[in-house]
Amino acid sequence: MTIWICTGCGLEHPDSVVPPEHCVFDRGAVTDEERGDLGPHGSWTTHEELAGRPYEIRHRDHGRGVHSLRREPVLGIGQWSFLVQTPRGNLLWDPPVFVDDQVAGLVRALGGVAVIASSHPHMFAAQVSWSHAFGRVPVLVNALDEEWVARPDPVLELWTGHAEPLPGVELVHVGGHMRGSAVARTADGTLLVGDTIAGSLDPGWVSFQRNVPRRVPLSAAAVRRIVERLEPYEYDRLYTLGGNTVDRDAKQIVRASATRHIRWVSGEFDHLI
Ligand SMILES: [Zn+2]
Repeated sequence: MTIWICTGCGLEHPDSVVPPEHCVFDRGAVTDEERGDLGPHGSWTTHEELAGRPYEIRHRDHGRGVHSLRREPVLGIGQWSFLVQTPRGNLLWDPPVFVDDQVAGLVRALGGVAVIASSHPHMFAAQVSWSHAFGRVPVLVNALDEEWVARPDPVLELWTGHAEPLPGVELVHVGGHMRGSAVARTADGTLLVGDTIAGSLDPGWVSFQRNVPRRVPLSAAAVRRIVERLEPYEYDRLYTLGGNTVDRDAKQIVRASATRHIRWVSGEFDHLI
C-alpha cells in the first residue's frame, strides 16, 4: 500500500494501491474562496518519490525555542513548518508535506515531536506520517474542520475553542481564513499564525484574508472576532506559514492592522476613492 500526497496542496491521503480519485480539496461543491489555496489538486506523489528527488531543508533558529523548516524546491503550498521546544516535548506546527530520514533526523536532533497541530486544513500535510514517525503522538484537529481530514487515523484528536497540548503552549481558535483557523502561542509569547493572520510587504503590518493566494479579504466582523479572541493573550513575535516575521510589538501591530482593515472594508473611507 502507498500513501499518496496531492501535489496541489501537499495533503497526504489514505494508503491504497492506486491513487485516490480526488483530493479532499477537489470537491465540486466547494467554492474557490472556501479552498483558499493554489492547486490544482488531484495529481499525486509519494514519500518515497519525494525522498528520491534532490532537495534542501532550510532551517531557521528564531531563538526562544522556536525553529522553522522548509523544503526547497517547495511542494504544494510551500509552508514554513515550526517546531516549538519545551521541557515537556515539542509541538510540530503546520507540519511538512513529507517525511524521510533526513528531515526526521533534523527534527529528532531538535528534540523530536510530542504533539502535532496546524493552523488550518491546508496545513494538515503529512501530519499522520509525522505522528507515526515519532511514536504515534497526538495530532490535534479543530473540530470545525474535521470534514477536511484527508487521512483519518486513531492519532487524531478533535479540539475546540482553546487547548493546551503542552504546558504553556496554547492553541486558540479564532476562525476567519477557514472555520477552524487557529493560532499557537508559546509560553513566552511567540504567536504562530499559519495564515490565520497573513503577512504583508511591510514587515510592520499584517493582513486578514479569506483566500490568501487570491487576496480575498475577510469581513470587518471576522477580523473583529479574530482580534477579540486574541486580546486576552500576550505576544510580542508573530510568524506566518509564508515566512513573514514580526519580531517585536506583534500584538500592537495586529491591533493596528485590524483597525485599518475594518475601517476600509466597512466603507469608512469610500469618499476618498
Ligand atoms: Zn490537494
